[in-house]
Amino acid sequence: MDAPRQRSLHQTAVEQFQRAADLIGVAEPTRTILAHPKNEVIVNFPVELDDGSWEMFRGYRIQHSNILGPFKGGIRFHPDVDLDEVTALAGWMTFKCALVGIPLGGAKGGVTIDPSAYSSAELQRVVRRFTHALGSNIGPEHDIPAPDVGTNSQMMDWLMDTYANMSGPNNRQMVKGVVTGKSLATGGSVGREEATGRGVLYALRHWCGETGERLDSLGVSVQGFGNVGSHFSRLAAQEGCRIQVVGDHTGTIGAEKGLDVESLSTWVREHGGVAGFPDADVLSTEELFSTPADVFVPAALENQVTGPRATAMDCRLIIEAANGPTTPEAEAIFAEQGVEIIPDILANAGGVVVSYFEWLQNKSARYWTEEDVDDRLRKILWEAHDNVVARRAELRCSRREAAYAVALDRLVEVYELRGIFP
Ligand code: NAD
Repeated sequence: MDAPRQRSLHQTAVEQFQRAADLIGVAEPTRTILAHPKNEVIVNFPVELDDGSWEMFRGYRIQHSNILGPFKGGIRFHPDVDLDEVTALAGWMTFKCALVGIPLGGAKGGVTIDPSAYSSAELQRVVRRFTHALGSNIGPEHDIPAPDVGTNSQMMDWLMDTYANMSGPNNRQMVKGVVTGKSLATGGSVGREEATGRGVLYALRHWCGETGERLDSLGVSVQGFGNVGSHFSRLAAQEGCRIQVVGDHTGTIGAEKGLDVESLSTWVREHGGVAGFPDADVLSTEELFSTPADVFVPAALENQVTGPRATAMDCRLIIEAANGPTTPEAEAIFAEQGVEIIPDILANAGGVVVSYFEWLQNKSARYWTEEDVDDRLRKILWEAHDNVVARRAELRCSRREAAYAVALDRLVEVYELRGIFP
């Protein structure tokens, strides 16, 4: 069974772009560059715990490409974080930014840690010490982190504050843009918190436009009820979708008539997960996948939709809110069954687009309204979906291959114009 971590995630990521590169005839030197991250930073650092003991942590920052702009990508706090995972995630960021046409590159970082096992004071010390260890490897014109699994706006505030205090007094006010996904009060952008989930909703809306489906007729199952899964579910429910099954690391629940997503969000905030939510049936993890639904939205971790799970699934559309949730075996099964996949680099790009807006606002010290953010986000994502649909029709390929082809068109043009230094 293709359980997580039996294959290299980075290898899967490379194979994904190579398939599109074959289709559009990308030359070898550019493929070789894109198959490798540009820089790999690994740091080991000690942190004092609340009981006075010291613990060593390992942190990563993998910078895949900055050909289109500064390196950009989230920081993950999770016990399974390792070099292979972060390298794959960094590469996906390069293609995501290229696909949606924003002037940013790709990177990803992480610390191998279970954040739920540490106090807030300990986590603050981990974030600050990790930021210090990264030092000049990050910066507002060089490499700009953001939240990801296990990290949040408070942690981004600590990161920014640490970096600002490491900067000279003349630069201290100019470095807010060293990280995005900050709290509003410290220079964050309105709309960033829910941006990824909102982008996932736009993916669903675009598909409805293509197929003539009605949003309010759809039953949706969601894996993961963190930042991305919860905001997507809330926004989709507001548009009339039935959120029928939700699973996270604590359990799986369902309600045929649709879950009350607002109450579920409150429950998860107070209890740390969906388990125990009243007014819902308790389901098994495998029932999250096997319960028939129109749309399945993986919004947790990579390699969750495996071959055996794909065989058991009964749905028409997968929207990859998470990065890398579908294994190659599952993808082959879906292709055979005619199940559509809206790929991660397109489906979850709303987060990095609003991170780009936050960075622009920090640079100019002028802050936008919610309407500005939402209008611009919708326009960028809609155009990206249109471009993928058009490229797919030209190339007669999958949506994932078409998405990579659009991204590669942009990357290859810049590599060819700039050439290789020296
Ligand atoms: P999060 O930490 O807020 O939430 C993660 C969710 O996954 C939680 O509900 C957790 O319970 C669930 N989960 C963890 N392990 C699980 C398991 N084994 N089985 C089922 N559920 C499990 O993280 P997030 O920011 O919502 O990120 C989710 C995914 O979206 C990740 O793949 C991330 O890379 C991707 N993503 C996030 C953003 C963003 O802006 N936060 C942007 C783009 C992509």
